[in-house]
Order: sequence, then C-alpha cells, then structure tokens
Amino acid sequence: MGIEEQLPSGVLLTTVEKIVGYARKSSVWPATFGLACCAIELMAAGGPKYDLAQWGMERASATPRQADLMIVAGRLSQKMAPVLRQIYDQMVEPKWVISMGVCASSGGMFNNYAIVQGVDHVVPVDIYLPGCPPRPEMLLDSIVKLHDKIYNTKLGAHRRAQIEEIEAQRMRT
Ligand code: SF4
Repeated sequence: MGIEEQLPSGVLLTTVEKIVGYARKSSVWPATFGLACCAIELMAAGGPKYDLAQWGMERASATPRQADLMIVAGRLSQKMAPVLRQIYDQMVEPKWVISMGVCASSGGMFNNYAIVQGVDHVVPVDIYLPGCPPRPEMLLDSIVKLHDKIYNTKLGAHRRAQIEEIEAQRMRT
C-alpha cells in the first residue's frame, strides 16, 4: 500500500503548507518606506533595543523587488498615492501590508482633500495598527500578529484574496 493511501486525505499537503508558512514568517523583508512622523517610531523599532533581527527582519530593502512587507508609516497624501501603489506592485508575491498609525489607517486628524482617508483605498491592508504614533512595542506586536497570519495562510489563498480585493476596488471606482 502506498503512503498516500495510508495517510488521511490532506495531511501531507497541510504539513507542506506549515513548513512554507514557517519559512515565510521567519524571513519577512520590509521595504524602507516612511511617510511621516510614524516613520520615526518605525526607525526606532529597527534599532538594537527592539531587535527586529530576532525575526530576520533587520534587512530593510531599498528596492521593492526584494521586499515582501510594506509598513505604511504615516499619512498618505493624494500625490503620493500612485507612488505607493507602484512600489506595492513591484514587490514580490506573496506580500503583506501593515498600516501603521491612525493617519495611515483612516486619515486620522487629516480629514481633508489632500490626504487619502485610509491606505486601504490604494493597497490591500493585512494589519491595522492604531496609535498616534504607535510605539515600537506596538509595531512589534503587530508583526507577531502578522507572523501568525502568514503561518496560517493556505498556499495561494493570500494571492486570491488580494485579487478579489483589487477587483472589488475596481468595482467601487
Ligand atoms: Fe504623525 Fe500621528 Fe499621523 Fe503617525 S498617526 S503620521 S505620528 S500624526
């Protein structure tokens, strides 16, 4: 009897997914991307006190083609929005987005014509991080939650969700 017949259906595939999830969550490379004051806390999180290196994340990519995490740190102006979208499109799949701070998540105090009222109008967001600004500890907490999400994401599911989100955005505009 072959091993496939001895194992319950799906056990082998689930194990592969867990291995891939573990590898992916352990090697997230963020793009260097700061927009406003929240970026100061983002830079602080990269220092030795908070030790992003414990997750293999100390290497911030200057090119989006070698990054799979975008941390949108600060308010997003309407002029900057197409640039943010272009950088996101250049990042490798699968990729994730953390919206850092109330301005990035909802426009915050900048309820005016110049500021995008939430980066999820431009890119799909995986984690919304509140605060003005969020402290580095809060960013670390959001990264741990993102790791959980990456680890538990089925192969291909993240990409499918992104495509559905993009299609929904197209329908809205
Ligand atoms: Fe600045 Fe606060 Fe907005 Fe962050 S949330 S960009 S710290 S005003």
